[in-house]
Amino acid sequence: MNVALPIPDAMPPDLYGRRERDPLLRVLERLMNAHMHSLRFLHRGEVVGERRDRCLPVVVVHRAVEAHDDNVVSFTLASPDGGELPAWRAGAHIDVEMPSGRLRQYSLCGDPADGKHYRIAVRRIPSGDGGSIEMHDDVGVGSSLIIRGPRNAFAFAVPGHGSTADHLHFVAGGIGITPILPMMRLAYRLGLDWSMVYTGRSRASLPFLGEITDYGDRVTIRTDDVDGMPSADMLLTGSRTTSAVYACGPMPMIAVLNRGVHPGSEFHFERFSAPPIVNGAEFEVELARTGQLERVS
Ligand SMILES: Cc1cc2nc3c(=O)[nH]c(=O)nc-3n(C[C@H](O)[C@H](O)[C@H](O)COP(=O)(O)OP(=O)(O)OC[C@H]3O[C@@H](n4cnc5c(N)ncnc54)[C@H](O)[C@@H]3O)c2cc1C
Repeated sequence: MNVALPIPDAMPPDLYGRRERDPLLRVLERLMNAHMHSLRFLHRGEVVGERRDRCLPVVVVHRAVEAHDDNVVSFTLASPDGGELPAWRAGAHIDVEMPSGRLRQYSLCGDPADGKHYRIAVRRIPSGDGGSIEMHDDVGVGSSLIIRGPRNAFAFAVPGHGSTADHLHFVAGGIGITPILPMMRLAYRLGLDWSMVYTGRSRASLPFLGEITDYGDRVTIRTDDVDGMPSADMLLTGSRTTSAVYACGPMPMIAVLNRGVHPGSEFHFERFSAPPIVNGAEFEVELARTGQLERVS
């Protein structure tokens, strides 16, 4: 549900209930505004927050089938003038506005070092709301799309630089491989110690198998049709108590991992859809600034 929040007319009170700002704060605020204004002028569009939400027109320059069951297709996107696209890091996704106006998120699964192209991959969901079907059936080489982002809600921290782990363990379930691929590539390039479990219903359903098997025996591939439903131990094959675990896949897989990951380990995950609501009931929220009440159902 989208709730439009009205912008208050009056200044909200400060911590002491005062509506008028302290004179010193007012001066500081003016200085900060002037500073931000000059930053915006100097870096036109590069101030944090502005760049991420801009709409970018892109054109599809390559399209490929990425799974043997034909249900995953990748699209390589480029700027219409062939120029640089905004930089991104492993784990990032973009919003894609389709020709119909539908908006869907897709993880970037190409190489962040390639500043001129983004690659996304889309699994066909026949029972979905039509976004993946539109991408498969109506979008091809030469198609124009609008994208927003990149944004990153699944940031990857390299051990020693923001992570105290000494090993990385990746778990990808089917199309959940998309944000994991750039993480594996980076771990490989940096010569880090890592392992991975790639899981899915069958080998035919697994996208990018060719790229994945290039990484050799660091990767364990297991499929439900041969190995049965995965346990936490299976999904954590190769990990240690000191590993940072990065996972993306269906909700049952994330739930199994959540119960099985060592309590001391870092566990980072991304889901492509909202978790199911269990025993849900309507509730009301009060917006602190305006006092407005909204029902959430
Ligand atoms: C941050 C983020 C990154 C994403 N990255 C990718 C990606 O790299 N590749 C990709 O194919 N999709 C990705 N998705 C999902 C994508 O945005 C769409 O939801 C998906 O293409 C289905 O769209 P739809 O209109 O067909 O159905 P939707 O209305 O979006 O979904 C309909 C139903 O399908 C389920 N569903 C949605 N996505 C999936 C999925 N991928 N696998 C299984 N069930 C699903 C939903 O739970 C829902 O029940 C991502 C989503 C998010 C939030």
